[in-house]
Amino acid sequence: MTDRNSYDVVIVGGGHNGLVAAAYLARAGHAVLVLERLDHTGGAAVSARVFAGVDARLSRYSYLVSLLPRRIVTDLGLRFAVRRRTVSSYTPVRRGGRNTGLLVTGDAARDREAFARLTGSEREFESWQRFQGMTRRLAERVFPTLTEPLPTREELRARIDDETAWRTVFERPLGEALEERFADDLVRGVVLTDALIGTFASAHDASLRQNRCFLYHVIGGGTGDWDVPVGGMGALTDALADAARAAGAELATGHEAVSIATDGRAAEVGYRVHGAGGAEDTQGAEGTEGAEGTVAARHVLVNASPRELAALLGQEPPAPAEGAQLKVNMLLRRLPRLRDRSVDPREAFAGTFHVAEGYRQLETAYREAAAGRPPEAPPSEIYCHSLTDPSVLGPELARTGHQTLTLFGLHVPARLFTGDADRDARTREELLTASLAQLDAHLDEPIADCLARDAEGRPCVEARTPPDLERDLRLPGGHIFHGDLAFPHAGDSPPDGTAAGRWGVGTGHPNVLLCGSGAVRGGGVSGIAGHNAAMAVLGR
Ligand SMILES: Cc1cc2nc3c(=O)[nH]c(=O)nc-3n(C[C@H](O)[C@H](O)[C@H](O)COP(=O)(O)OP(=O)(O)OC[C@H]3O[C@@H](n4cnc5c(N)ncnc54)[C@H](O)[C@@H]3O)c2cc1C
Repeated sequence: MTDRNSYDVVIVGGGHNGLVAAAYLARAGHAVLVLERLDHTGGAAVSARVFAGVDARLSRYSYLVSLLPRRIVTDLGLRFAVRRRTVSSYTPVRRGGRNTGLLVTGDAARDREAFARLTGSEREFESWQRFQGMTRRLAERVFPTLTEPLPTREELRARIDDETAWRTVFERPLGEALEERFADDLVRGVVLTDALIGTFASAHDASLRQNRCFLYHVIGGGTGDWDVPVGGMGALTDALADAARAAGAELATGHEAVSIATDGRAAEVGYRVHGAGGAEDTQGAEGTEGAEGTVAARHVLVNASPRELAALLGQEPPAPAEGAQLKVNMLLRRLPRLRDRSVDPREAFAGTFHVAEGYRQLETAYREAAAGRPPEAPPSEIYCHSLTDPSVLGPELARTGHQTLTLFGLHVPARLFTGDADRDARTREELLTASLAQLDAHLDEPIADCLARDAEGRPCVEARTPPDLERDLRLPGGHIFHGDLAFPHAGDSPPDGTAAGRWGVGTGHPNVLLCGSGAVRGGGVSGIAGHNAAMAVLGR
């Protein structure tokens, strides 16, 4: 770092939210230091060349963008764009002895026909349209509130002004509405998956954690669309790091925060240097492995998880969250052929390709995993980035028809892993094999035959479990949102009178604020927690 040992704001964590906060605050004239323990910024929103000698920049963890408000992109002058997918989803299924499926494109006439072909009538499509209309109205009304001070529950309810939508999403387990509105098991399953991304729950869970996850998955951008980040997720976080740096923020990578002390007005952050510490902006004595130091700050913003925050403050950490997904990155020589010959693989894989995600299959997988057994038929969703944005492939790979493939497996909770490295590696391998077997059941050729090879001849596939994510990214319990999502309103009492409370980023210490996924409206790649924490510091 520079010789300076006192800042207006120190930010713990250089994930995308930490960078958003840094950029807003530095542009407002504050002296800002970001401490990031890894040797690069971006957190779970990065692009990486994952396979040795292979020129493909994969979005290694998060991969689609919905919740990022356009305003953050324009406020910060980011050179970053997203692209709409031509297909929303495809779900293959074997029915009546033949291979068929449901392709949803957003083109009403085409979708009506696809639903009728699968279910035998137009009833499911009409229910689907009504349900989508309801979530669209929710999106229009809820999304703009996420970058405003936190409303109370009653204020949000009044803003939504639709009692059916309110009861469906905020009050009753989602499974009840799905069973009332849809008759077809596959259609029910397709809708339910939005409630289960990174969230370990049954459709009928009384905690409503599945409803909260569902809400965040259908309101992004005021439409609920999930778009492809052009250049991969790293394009967003690189643009954010550039914006923060250009505004004068210092980004110190390889610097892990190890303590926070505060009296409510002033704070001190202790840090330790790792590796070549400070590869981004920093040089000098602090840049040596194991070196320790402290910096003073008026405000500390914590982009790390609430569990990490408790440890930094020397408090008893909250009960660990439980992540529940398998993330698989692949590079293919070509897309596989499908058994359902009515659909072109270039359409099927451009949207979200649902595997083993029928409604009953999802519940069965949940029950098996809740009992501590890997699901026999692991559900997953798959998507090909390079069909929509080939720029992540080097010229030679693009020319030869290579494609990326991301698999996000559901219901793989942390409890399936023991902490014994060898055993956990076997469980990871078994889950990968079982997930790919579920995909293979709908392919005309095994996916393994389509995998590209790296420079050493190994197949281009990597899998990450919750313990892997906890180790690599410090996600508590491997939870992709740092913990279960919260409804986007204050608890039953009005928000406390502090600026941090009003913005949903409070920690109990007036000058220590959350600015990450663990804040009230923080989950997903949205920048919202970073924006809201910055607004609280700026007293807006
Ligand atoms: C596999 C996976 C897939 C996902 N898919 C999507 C998706 O497609 N779309 C979507 O919107 N969301 C997705 N998510 C969720 C999304 O990535 C997260 O919600 C988002 O990255 C949170 O951003 P953040 O900046 O708040 O935190 P993080 O990205 O977790 O960044 C926190 C940063 O803090 C650093 N840190 C932690 N402790 C310390 C410390 N003591 N000192 C210094 N630094 C520290 C970490 O190294 C990290 O860089 C996915 C997440 C995962 C893991």
